[in-house]
Amino acid sequence: MKTVDDFAVAGQRVLVRSDLNVPLSDGPDGSRLITDDGRIRASVPTIERLAAAGAKVIVTAHLGRPKGEPRPELSLAPVAARLAELLGRPVEFVPAVTGPKVAAAVAAMNDGDVVLLENVRFDGRETSKDQAERAALAAELAANADFFVSDGFGVVHREQASVTDVARILPAAAGDLVRTEVEAFNKVLVDPARPYVVVLGGSKVSDKLGVIGNLLPRVDTLLIGGGMAFTFLAAQGHEVGDSLLERDRIDEVKGLLVDAAARGVDIVVPVDVVVSTELDGSAPIATVAATAIPAGQKGLDIGPKTVELFATYIGSAATIVWNGPMGVFETPAFATGTRAVAEAIAASPAHTVVGGGDSAAAVRLLGIGEERFSHISTGGGASLELLEGKVLPGLQVLEDAS
Ligand code: ADP
Ligand code: MG
Repeated sequence: MKTVDDFAVAGQRVLVRSDLNVPLSDGPDGSRLITDDGRIRASVPTIERLAAAGAKVIVTAHLGRPKGEPRPELSLAPVAARLAELLGRPVEFVPAVTGPKVAAAVAAMNDGDVVLLENVRFDGRETSKDQAERAALAAELAANADFFVSDGFGVVHREQASVTDVARILPAAAGDLVRTEVEAFNKVLVDPARPYVVVLGGSKVSDKLGVIGNLLPRVDTLLIGGGMAFTFLAAQGHEVGDSLLERDRIDEVKGLLVDAAARGVDIVVPVDVVVSTELDGSAPIATVAATAIPAGQKGLDIGPKTVELFATYIGSAATIVWNGPMGVFETPAFATGTRAVAEAIAASPAHTVVGGGDSAAAVRLLGIGEERFSHISTGGGASLELLEGKVLPGLQVLEDAS
């Protein structure tokens, strides 16, 4: 893949696709407030480097799912303001995706200026399944630029106009964020340091079966927590009460257990779980053996013995990948397992990679300290697809361009 260093950008118009898809809430005065600016901060280095090098930087990005129509509450205007604060440079917001307003704004730019275009998904062609429609939007985006820099890691698994099609029109390179993310995942996929421990959790085992299948030949140990653990417990013949269970996946999980045993990979499931009848912590809470979950109870977190067991594996690992919280961490009463496992991973000197939107959110919500991990991915779906071993179209197109 080409990088920004491969282009002489001074005085040139550079279109940057960033991932600025941040969570917003309504402020007291009807304004929109950014509740987590992690993705904006992750987008700053590339934009800053281009601006400092004298490029005219035109940023395009999406926010939410406006379904091809302008929706004021999904405008990127508040994001432009935050981006300007973080850059320490003015950012002009252009209230259009393409067209004469964009052309006029770009024509008025000086070297080193930064503009942010309106939510690209206000134009339905961005996510169209019709390649010709996407290509038409891409051509309009490309009309105001000399180079394209792909830096929205959270969207590189999407075949979309501002991600793939535009990279087929303009000379294209990977931005710093995309490069960093790809390098971090390559390190855990290609010749990782051993022992290699993968910690999986989250709600649905069906979301993670592809990841397990791809990682099984590469890892030493899989630690399974979260809601997905109950399908593993059921596959081992245990009752799981009212816990999350994907009955139609039990056979597949049985197959994985057999495959893992044949490969000498340890799949470690919880030995104790925290149960209750309510997810919000309002009902009585107990810790029980994972093999003795009472009828009517839901397993909502891993128990202390499981934390201890998982921590021994984590403590001796040289590579750790973590995807998916260990429990319903959004409720403080069920956040203990996730916090303890995250702390153990953070304390490890291993190469540690966190993938998955909710896992990254848990690190921030629980205040673990992002700098204590080697890499926290900004892309939930994209990181899962990389771990599944898929070819991501937004990366493929950059390789093709090189
Ligand atoms: P990620 O985004 O990191 O890949 P997922 O989206 O797979 O993670 O799962 C995150 C969700 O899983 C969280 O909302 C959390 O509340 C939920 N979860 C974790 N453990 C359980 C459990 N035991 N029962 C129900 N939901 C759970
Ligand atoms: Mg998620």
